[in-house]
Amino acid sequence: MTTATKKLPPTTDPRCGTTAGYTAHRRRGESACVPCTVANRKAAREAMRRRRATLAGREANREANREASRRRRATPAGREAHLAAHRATYARLRARTEAEADADFLRLRGQTRPCAGCGELLPADAFSRDWTALDGRQRRCARNGCRKRHRKLKRDKKLAAHWTAQGIDPKVCIYCLTNPAEDLEHVMPKALGGSDDFSNLAPSCSTCNRGPGGKHDVHPITWLAITYPHRVDHIIELFPHIKETA
Ligand SMILES: [Zn+2]
Ligand SMILES: [Zn+2]
Ligand SMILES: [Zn+2]
Repeated sequence: MTTATKKLPPTTDPRCGTTAGYTAHRRRGESACVPCTVANRKAAREAMRRRRATLAGREANREANREASRRRRATPAGREAHLAAHRATYARLRARTEAEADADFLRLRGQTRPCAGCGELLPADAFSRDWTALDGRQRRCARNGCRKRHRKLKRDKKLAAHWTAQGIDPKVCIYCLTNPAEDLEHVMPKALGGSDDFSNLAPSCSTCNRGPGGKHDVHPITWLAITYPHRVDHIIELFPHIKETA
């Protein structure tokens, strides 16, 4: 489609007010009449909504936008325009009042959004102001220990994956195989030189770990021989290093 030729004024057509009417205007080299423009815009919005309804559609949409932006920035003039638009956006964002920024958060995110650190759904005032962000707030929440919690969550996920790969159910106590896992258990107690490595960690219930008759700082093989003799071989198989100091 070339836009070099000047557009003619619209002529009336029985299809006017529909997308077919719009296409007919374009084919005749005219600018579209108002009802046709409205119909076309509505159809385009509908199509966009349908595309955005699926994950694949959203991805395709994002990729198309990225590609279009890349093409625009390919020339020096396009690049300059792109940067100018960026500067204008940031200037506008920085000029917002607190109320305007709060309205932007509500419009873009609703009442809450997940923290990029701890992952919890939180309202706007749980995040510090960030005047360069579209929603006016930092990505991580400002609550105490958010960063620490984030690190712990990441580690827990990795550890669960490690256990699953070893054939250990992360949700069940490794000793009694009955109670739900509550504690992060050092199979070889730290008091006996056990490490914090994944290879020395297991999910356990609080009873087995620190309850009456629990393992506490006893050597695992000694404790298992008394409490769960039938589990000794399997635990040694999973944690061979406990045998070296038995
Ligand atoms: Zn028309
Ligand atoms: Zn957080
Ligand atoms: Zn247990």
